[in-house]
Amino acid sequence: MNRDTLYIGGRWVAPASAETIAVENPATEEILAHVPAGTGEDVDRAVAAARAAFDGWAATPMAERGAALGKVHEALSARAADIARTVGLELGTPLKVARSVQAGLPLTVLRGYADLAAQPVPEETIGNSLIVREPVGVVGAITPWNYPLHQVVAKVAAALAAGCTVVLKPSELTPLTAYLLFDAAEEAGLPDGVLNLVTGTGPAVGAALAGHPDVDMVSFTGSTATGRAIAHAAADRVARVALELGGKSANVILEDADLVKAVKVGVGTAFLNSGQTCTAWTRMLVHRSHYDAAVELAAATAQGYRTGDPFDEGTRLGPLVSAAQRERVRGFIERAGARMVAGAQGVPGKGYFVAPTVFADVDPDSELAQEEIFGPVLSIIPFDDDDHAVRIANNSRYGLAGGVWGSQDRALAVARRLRTGAVDVNGGAFNPLAPFGGYKQSGIGRELGVHGLAEFQETKAIQQ
Ligand code: NAD
Repeated sequence: MNRDTLYIGGRWVAPASAETIAVENPATEEILAHVPAGTGEDVDRAVAAARAAFDGWAATPMAERGAALGKVHEALSARAADIARTVGLELGTPLKVARSVQAGLPLTVLRGYADLAAQPVPEETIGNSLIVREPVGVVGAITPWNYPLHQVVAKVAAALAAGCTVVLKPSELTPLTAYLLFDAAEEAGLPDGVLNLVTGTGPAVGAALAGHPDVDMVSFTGSTATGRAIAHAAADRVARVALELGGKSANVILEDADLVKAVKVGVGTAFLNSGQTCTAWTRMLVHRSHYDAAVELAAATAQGYRTGDPFDEGTRLGPLVSAAQRERVRGFIERAGARMVAGAQGVPGKGYFVAPTVFADVDPDSELAQEEIFGPVLSIIPFDDDDHAVRIANNSRYGLAGGVWGSQDRALAVARRLRTGAVDVNGGAFNPLAPFGGYKQSGIGRELGVHGLAEFQETKAIQQ
C-alpha cells in the first residue's frame, strides 16, 4: 500500500523531499504504509498547476464538468470494495460502516454533484441585472481522518462542479483512500492540473496551503483550533474560507417520545465510528420522567456493542485512530466526575480501543458536557420541561447537529429552537443533498447539495 508520489499537473511526480510519513493500522499498531511527507515546495508546484488549469476548467460548460465527474464516479465505484478495506485498515472502521458510510457516502455525494452539474439551473435575473455564478478560483482543501474519503469528496466534487481547481491535503493519519480517488481521476481522464494531491503534515503542507498567496479559497474540515489558525492565515489576503469544525450535539428525548427507539438510536449515533464523528449526539438529554429508564437502557445498549477487529463482521466498535487520540479520550473519562454506568478500565491486547462508555448525572457545564471528546463517550443529562431542554442543548459553543424525539409538532417546535446546522426529528434520515455545516464555533459555510456548490462560487451582477 506504499505510495511514493504526489499527483500534480495530471502526473504522478516525486516529492521534493525524500521524507515519508508512516500510516499505522490502529487495530494492530502495525505500520501499514508510507506516503510522502510533502513540503512547501510541493505545495507551490501544485498551486501553480491548479492556477494554470483554472481558466480552461472554469470556461468548460458546467454540464461537461458534470460529465467528467460522472466518469470519476464510475472509476471510483469500481474501487468501492478497496475503499472499504482501506478505511478498515487505516482508520479501523468496522466493515459494515466502512462499506455503507466510508465507501458508500462519498460515491453518493460524487454522483449527486455529477448529476447537479449535468443539469445547470437557468441564470437568475433581478430587474435589469443578470446574476451570474462563477467559480471562486484555486481551492486548497484540507481534510481530517474520521471520514477520510467522504470529507475529501464533499469538497472536491463541489469545487470541481463549480469550476474551481483544487489542491488537496488529506489527513496524514489516513491518506490512503485519497490515493484511490486520484487513481480514479487519472483513469477518468480529468484534465491536467484540475485536481492535485500533496500529502503531508498540517504544519508543513496544510499551513503552506492555507497561507499561499495564490490560493483563493481554503475549504477545511477538522478541529476548531486548526480552523481558527486557517482562518487567521487566510485573513491576511481576504481569501475565502469554509470551515467544518467540531460539535457537541444534543439528542433531546421529550416526555412523549418513543423512549426505546430514541435511546437506542441515540446511543448508536453517539458511538458511530467509535464516536469519532463530528455530528455525534454526545449529550443525551432526557425528560426527568424517563430518566432512570433511559440511563438503564443506554448502559445496556452500550454494553451490548462488540468492540474488536474491524474485519470481523460482528464488530460494532473499532479502535480510535491513534494512540494520541486514545490517551486524549481516556483523559476525559478519568476526569469525568460523573456516574459511570457503562465502560471499562481498558481493552486488553493490541490496538487503540476504548470501551463504549456512558456517564449519567452529567453537569451540563462540566468538561464532559462541553468539550468534544471524539471517542465512544456519552453523557446523559435530565431536564424538567421543553424550555429547560432547549436551554441545556444550546448551552454549547458548538452548533452542528442534534436530534429531537417526541410527538411530531412538539418535537419540530423544539428542533426549530436548537441553534445548530441540522436536527433530526424522530430519527429523520441523513440527507446527502441537504446543507451540512455549523452554527457558532462549529464552522462557517455549508457543504453538500446546491448549498455546497454555492460555497465555491462568486456571484456577479451584470446590469443591462
Ligand atoms: P485537525 O484539525 O487536527 O486536522 C485536520 C486537518 O488539518 C489535517 O489534514 C491536518 O493535517 C490539518 N492541519 C493540522 N494543523 C494544521 C495547520 N496548522 N494548518 C493547516 N492544516 C493543518 O483535526 P483532526 O484531528 O484530523 O479531525 C478531528 C476534528 O475534526 C474533530 O474536532 C471533529 O469534530 C472535526 N470534524 C468536523 C467535521 C465537520 O464537518 N464539522 C467533520 C469531521 C471532523
